[in-house]
Amino acid sequence: MHIGILSRNRNLYSTRRLIEAAEQRGHSVRVVDTLRCYMSIASHRPSIHYKGAELEPFDAIIPRIGASVTFYGCAVLRQFEMMSTYVLNDSVAITRSRDKLRSLQLLSRKGLGLPVTGFAHSPDDIPDLITMAKGAPLVIKLLEGTQGIGVVLAETNQAAESVIQAFMGMKANIMVQEYIKEAKGADIRCFVIGDKVVASMKRQAAEGEFRSNLHRGGTASVIRITPEERSTAIRAAKAMGLGVAGVDLLRSNHGPVIMEVNSSPGLQGIESATGKDIAGQIVEHLEKNATPPRKAPQKP
Ligand code: ADP
Ligand code: GLU
Repeated sequence: MHIGILSRNRNLYSTRRLIEAAEQRGHSVRVVDTLRCYMSIASHRPSIHYKGAELEPFDAIIPRIGASVTFYGCAVLRQFEMMSTYVLNDSVAITRSRDKLRSLQLLSRKGLGLPVTGFAHSPDDIPDLITMAKGAPLVIKLLEGTQGIGVVLAETNQAAESVIQAFMGMKANIMVQEYIKEAKGADIRCFVIGDKVVASMKRQAAEGEFRSNLHRGGTASVIRITPEERSTAIRAAKAMGLGVAGVDLLRSNHGPVIMEVNSSPGLQGIESATGKDIAGQIVEHLEKNATPPRKAPQKP
């Protein structure tokens, strides 16, 4: 196959590993800088241009689209979809995963475990919103935050009220969430490929921190997940329409609850914690699912 990787930087760990894994399996790879793609949206013949020339056809595209370039990145990916190129995760699913509220709404419809979460517009509804999230301590989150930035733990109802007021005053979209204290600063990352959890790790927050993100100083270790956690992760990825996903769960008193579903999960943490070749498994997934390129129709 000829595989394209949409990525801003070929030296990032995940991109490097995907190149390595694809080449090892005999595929050719080209890294395409997402922000240097531009496109012509002509009738019948959608195309993508890159640094002055039209891009060659690809059998599959692996999108690695950072949160800060979601809009442009998804437009580029959509153009590949219009050209009938197989994409590992499609643009609608990625867009959906970048909005935490929209994601939770879709997951709740499937009956998956979630922390109780409230969303409101008017400051008049703040007291009710706090009650909904079972009162302080509670968690306040920016809908489009990432790497733990924009996630705040409010210890008292008074603190919660003023933080929510401040965010609302800034016109920031936030949700208010029940604090899962019993998770003790740990979450579980389940790496889903297709209909399997291929690896999982526990991330423990640093001392004095409740956010377990590796970017916030969390540490990763291998963990055995329960069958319920496994099926929750698989169903979550499916509900989001993602072929490859990083599903983050917390262990609550009422079973696993989903924090978020990541559509460009990093490979470094999970490969080093588990010693598994996740990049290789992603390429294997492409081999099974990318349909061979369509031949030009035969003239009778
Ligand atoms: P981000 O997308 O920025 O990583 P998350 O919603 O995943 O944001 O939150 C970051 C971390 O904060 C989580 O991995 C988890 O450790 C902690 N956390 C978030 N929400 C809760 C909650 N409701 N209860 C307990 N811990 C939480
Ligand atoms: N059609 C999908 C649904 O209703 C997508 C909705 C969305 O992404 O918000 O579940």
